[in-house]
Parts: sequence; C-alpha cells; structure tokens
Amino acid sequence: MITGPIDLHTHSSVSDGTEAPADLIASAVTAGLAAVALTDHDSTSGWDEARAAIVGTGLTLIPGMELSTRVGYNSVHMLGYLFDPASPELVEETTRLRNDRLHRAERMVTRIGADYDIDWGDVLAQASEGATLGRPHIADALVAKGYARDRSAAFAGILHWRSGYYEPHEAPSPLLGIRIIRAAGGVPVLAHPATRGREANLPQSHLLELVEAGLGGVEISHRDNTEGGKQTLRALADQYDLIVTGSSDYHGEGKPNRLGENTTEPEQLERIIDRATGSAPFVG
Ligand code: AMP
Ligand code: FE
Ligand code: FE
Ligand code: ZN
Repeated sequence: MITGPIDLHTHSSVSDGTEAPADLIASAVTAGLAAVALTDHDSTSGWDEARAAIVGTGLTLIPGMELSTRVGYNSVHMLGYLFDPASPELVEETTRLRNDRLHRAERMVTRIGADYDIDWGDVLAQASEGATLGRPHIADALVAKGYARDRSAAFAGILHWRSGYYEPHEAPSPLLGIRIIRAAGGVPVLAHPATRGREANLPQSHLLELVEAGLGGVEISHRDNTEGGKQTLRALADQYDLIVTGSSDYHGEGKPNRLGENTTEPEQLERIIDRATGSAPFVG
C-alpha cells in the first residue's frame, strides 16, 4: 500500500497544463507526493514521458486520462485510470474528440478574430505539437495579446459560454464514456461532479444512471465542488459503495490549483488498482 499524499488528477502540456510531463513529475517530487496520476484531456500521449521521468523518484505513476463527455450543453468530465491505451474504441473516440476540439477552437478563434486582433496562428503558438486543444490555449493567446490578464480572466470574459464566441464540441455521452473506459480495462471516476454552473456539472438523476452503468467512483475533494454537493456525493458513495477520490486538477501555471491540495486515501487508490485490468501502476 502506498503511504504519503496521492494526487489523481493532473494535466501536462499534452493537453492544457503548462508543464511537459517530465516537468510535471519533477513538480510532483517537489510537492512531496507519493503517487500521481497523469490525466490529460482526451490523450494518453504523455504516459511514456511521465514513466521515463518517474524512474528513480520513488513515486508511483497512475496512468490516466480525463475524457470529455457531454449531456446536452453540460460538459461532463470522466476520469479513467489504468486502462489499455491501445484499446481500439478508446483510440477511435479520443482521436475524434481531439480532432473535433481542434475545429471547434478554430471556429471560436474565427469569431473572436472578427472583434479582436487574434488569429489561429496565435493560438497554435501557445500549444505544444499535437496537444489536445481547448479554450485554455485560446486564453493564452488572448493574454499574450493583452486582451486578458490571465486564463481565469479570459474564461470570465471572452471565452465564457455566454460571451457569444463560445462553441461546444462533439463528445460522447457519459454512459458511452464509462463503457469505453471499462472496455479498455480501466476504472471510470466522475471528475468534479458538483461544480457550480454548467462546466462539468451533472443533474443528480443522471448520476444514478451512471452508477448503474458501471461508474467506479466520484471525485469528491476538488476545489470546484460545492460543500453541499460534496455532502450529497458522500451519501451517494456510501449508498452505492463507490470509490471516493480527492485531487488537485493541477494545470501548472494555467490554474491556481496546487499539487496535493486535495488527496486520495491509499485504500481508495488500492480499490482502483484492484479493479483495473488494462494497465498497471508504474513504480519509479
Ligand atoms: P474546453 O474544454 O476547451 O471548453 O475548456 C475547458 C477547460 O478549461 C477545462 O479543462 C479547464 O481545465 C480549463 N478552465 C476552465 N476554467 C478555467 C479558468 N477559469 N482558468 C483556467 N482554466 C480554466
Ligand atoms: Fe483542463
Ligand atoms: Fe475537468
Ligand atoms: Zn482536469
């Protein structure tokens, strides 16, 4: 059993974090973590670099991903742990997601470009090659151009869904997301299920449906979950024997979230490891 702080939700520059996977591992060492999961949006392409970087650190790497799903206009994020990254369904769905995110970001930039001096090249300059593109990269371009102070300000203004520039992207339903992760031998855990607003928010009735479909756990300790929401989730986790996690959702300098600010109990990580059949934790 792992002893020490466990953080199961982090992003590297493979998606919208600001640190390369190897640098993220170095930050995890500095933060004193015992185990860290790399959970980039819709991509596993940081796994190899993270594995290589963890050798000799004594940390345990839990390979994972944060899969984009949606219910109507609500964006629902599904964490998946220890699945087989070569699973054909998963590869197909994430390839489609990344591609659709690219075109959606382009459409948003075209709209924004009608009112601000910003173009697609400005956005690409903010993302590493092959990264899962999202509004954070558009935010970085807006910051670079002086239109916003930081990512948060860009999200509160030009990139807000009510701004008139917003576009959704295609995404599978959470039910399909759960099936894809499970078919790949992974454990699905619903990310920040009790946030305010429609960013990654889910009606309660949906949650029961997801539990019936094989949802493994819920991320309860997360800075964006409301206190009332956490209480409801704890009761639900008790009732349905769900795995309970807590994590930072670290994005490097892209968000104020710090590594280890919320953590997962070792017994809960054990449950994830015991249930997974797609890939193994990597002990550095
Ligand atoms: P997208 O999936 O492209 O619509 O963008 C949503 C992503 O932006 C999420 O994964 C968050 O990590 C990030 N995000 C949301 N709000 C903020 C914020 N206020 N500051 C920085 N990043 C944010
Ligand atoms: Fe993100
Ligand atoms: Fe998320
Ligand atoms: Zn996240």
